[in-house]
Amino acid sequence: MGGMPARPEGPRAPHSSGVKLGPMAGDGETIVVIEDDQNISDLVALYLRREGFRVLQARDGAQGLAYAERDRPKLVVVDVGLPGELDGFDVCRRLRAAGDVPIVMLTARDDEVDRVVGLEFGADDYVTKPFSPRELVARVRAILRRAGSPARLEPSILEVGQVAIDTGRREVRRGESVVALTSREFDLLTYLALNTGLALSRRQLLDGVWGEGWYGDERTVDVHVRQLRKKLGDDLPLTTVWGVGYRLG
Ligand code: CA
Repeated sequence: MGGMPARPEGPRAPHSSGVKLGPMAGDGETIVVIEDDQNISDLVALYLRREGFRVLQARDGAQGLAYAERDRPKLVVVDVGLPGELDGFDVCRRLRAAGDVPIVMLTARDDEVDRVVGLEFGADDYVTKPFSPRELVARVRAILRRAGSPARLEPSILEVGQVAIDTGRREVRRGESVVALTSREFDLLTYLALNTGLALSRRQLLDGVWGEGWYGDERTVDVHVRQLRKKLGDDLPLTTVWGVGYRLG
């Protein structure tokens, strides 16, 4: 079990996120907003432009994907409900298949939230309508802060139970086989593994994995833990600590 670091005193983030962004966080970087509701799209674009981003507004999935392909945005905001052949989930899946651009989804209904929170589509975050543009901007900034964090982890293998986490390759193995995890599942697993033996509250996990600017509710953690258990089964010694949260190892 060579790769496990010594047990730290408190929760540790998988990477430092100490980079502070100034008021003009965007710095001319591109964000694609895919939303057919013109009012919402304009409002989101207005707030993001104020932050210094260059914003491309698409009215449907096909146009949004074309923009994403052509302009290589820093982040994509996509509404679940879109006209035409591709809904927001389709767009998300295609973006994921093509690369790892961060994605924030806009949802209108609870049943959509359940699907988004499950992150079967690989979105990084979501906001539920009606939302405040300020909140959306805060989330966009939090995601970009994480994504742009310069702290590169030394590639290392963390081993927990029968599961090996290769932080350099961002790959998880169960025995000999590679297990496909979403990026958030991977971050959650890494965070738990870096804090092996500690009972972590859902709030600590949200702060550590989703970032402190994340306003979502704590059931998000449960949904991701369920996914990890489903994918890794008994090979992952992950315990529910009643009244607290979760403990690995
Ligand atoms: Ca819509």
